[in-house]
Amino acid sequence: MSAINRFLLENKLRIATNPCVSPDFCLDWSALRDELRAGKAMKVYAKSRFDTAAGAFTLVENVQGDCAWRLQGDAGKADTLHDAVALTDGTTVFPATFANLLKLKNLIQAHHAASTIFPTATEQLGRSTLGIGARFTTLHWPAVEWAMSALSLGVTANQNSIPRELVYDTAVMLAGKLDTVPFPFIGTHVPEGHQGQSVEGMSHGCVLSKLKTGFHRRGIAWSFNADHQPIGGKFDSREDALVTGCVLASYITFDLSPELAQTTVADDAGGWVAAHVPAALVATVKARVAKAGLTLNEADFAKLLAYVWPALQKMKVRDEKYAAARAKLFTTAVGRAYLRELSIDELPGLTTAETTAIMLALCEALGMKIHFVAPAFGFQKNMPYPDNAALRSLIEKQWAVCQNFGASIGFHSGSGKSAENYQVMGQVTGSRLEIKTSGRYTYEMGRALFASKNAADQALWRDWYTFTLELALLGAFSADATEQKMARVFITDALAKSGQATDVFADPAATRGALAALVASPEHMFWFEYNFLHVLAAGGRAEKAALGDHTPAGYQQRARFYAISDEGRLNFSKNIASYIVFLAENTGLAPAATCAAAHKLLAGYTSLDAMLNDISK
Ligand SMILES: [Zn+2]
Repeated sequence: MSAINRFLLENKLRIATNPCVSPDFCLDWSALRDELRAGKAMKVYAKSRFDTAAGAFTLVENVQGDCAWRLQGDAGKADTLHDAVALTDGTTVFPATFANLLKLKNLIQAHHAASTIFPTATEQLGRSTLGIGARFTTLHWPAVEWAMSALSLGVTANQNSIPRELVYDTAVMLAGKLDTVPFPFIGTHVPEGHQGQSVEGMSHGCVLSKLKTGFHRRGIAWSFNADHQPIGGKFDSREDALVTGCVLASYITFDLSPELAQTTVADDAGGWVAAHVPAALVATVKARVAKAGLTLNEADFAKLLAYVWPALQKMKVRDEKYAAARAKLFTTAVGRAYLRELSIDELPGLTTAETTAIMLALCEALGMKIHFVAPAFGFQKNMPYPDNAALRSLIEKQWAVCQNFGASIGFHSGSGKSAENYQVMGQVTGSRLEIKTSGRYTYEMGRALFASKNAADQALWRDWYTFTLELALLGAFSADATEQKMARVFITDALAKSGQATDVFADPAATRGALAALVASPEHMFWFEYNFLHVLAAGGRAEKAALGDHTPAGYQQRARFYAISDEGRLNFSKNIASYIVFLAENTGLAPAATCAAAHKLLAGYTSLDAMLNDISK
């Protein structure tokens, strides 16, 4: 038994209420196997059934959430799967381990290349998509499946930053050796993987979700984005682990910022480039940028090239590793393919058209096809862009370049923009874009619990709200200048929008009094900004030391979210689906009439079962 599965079992952290922590979707095979042999009743996902050369597989699950594959057919042809057990009814069962999932991917795609059970990299997904950050994993995916099905639109249905949001290696986690991520607005560092799930667990869970709801029967291709894969810098030492963990991702986002952060540009940038960058490549890039209609300033070009060249070389090496890992495990072309995004919004300042052109020309010269490029437009997370005309002109300049290179535009920090902002993005690019959203869905969970009449949902909501209120109060009087400033901005915004006085920082008691007088609401900015850290806060405590806790105390807290009521789940699912429909409509990814019909359908659901039943159609 793996160390992570032993840890979870010993602490009674089971998949049903703590999914996607282990890479496996079966923690205790000996128990599940015995239940299957004894013919014990368990959940059979009839809609999950799919065919392979070995026969038909169906997914089954016991009450703890441990899953098995049941094969009706020729087990000899599925002998690459491990731990087969023959049952007396003639079927064969296998544990839903990560190793078996990888083997199944080959069996499925070799039999049916157009299968949509696993994430893929189809041409359409490389042109237009929505990036849906899946912070609540199994609670979240069915709603995304519903939206894709209702709109007949494939999107990036699984997306998270690794290793920032997801645990990249459970062995490192168990050893207590995860790195930390600075959160200046909280004035502290929080361990990586602050949502608790592992990248393999997420990879596994998003596939099983498609099977449970029967989404794969709709034949709609979807993708899985390993977001903001850090290149270079302090990540050099663990790049092989990052590559292995992301092997089921069909879409990689390259983030050069760690290497750029430690690159110093030589005073004589031109001389450095002449000595370090192949002259033929420099000539190719210059010619390509000229062909795209841009005139280069030699000195600026040399400076940019000297700045990014070390990072680009590492990106190329990393890209080869992603390709090699897929070639080693997967036997089919469809199983090996992946899309690429180049994130350049981390470069300082607004991205110029020249910078975008040079970066795309460099990737082209290095033999890396870029499907999406993400320039900086000056977006603030969760804030509408204030000036649509200015936004249009910024995007037009970038689009002129992207079009020339056959790349689409990735809009990072894309949550919470206005309908008009999304319309501008869609109109200028002809919907050749990706909007990345993530934080929005944590907010939707808050709204779902707030609106629920279930007592346990309400208790969780109140604790969650209090957690953020206490963090805001702590921050407002912190000695750390950034932390104090941000906390006061969040508090002031909430008070002002509630029509209250904002001169409340004379002393902590005054601030507390003002916040206590507010009606608890998921619309308050301080709740919005601090909320995501409640999920893995030990004991739910509003203390810096309790945040991102990968011990049983953190996971017991996480379990509270996975135990919400059916009413809470229905609210959450409707909120997510409705936001995706809103995005698809305004960016022009789906026709207005289709979106209107989807909204109408959503409004009518009174049970989660009814909603989920419609996914497979
Ligand atoms: Zn980015």
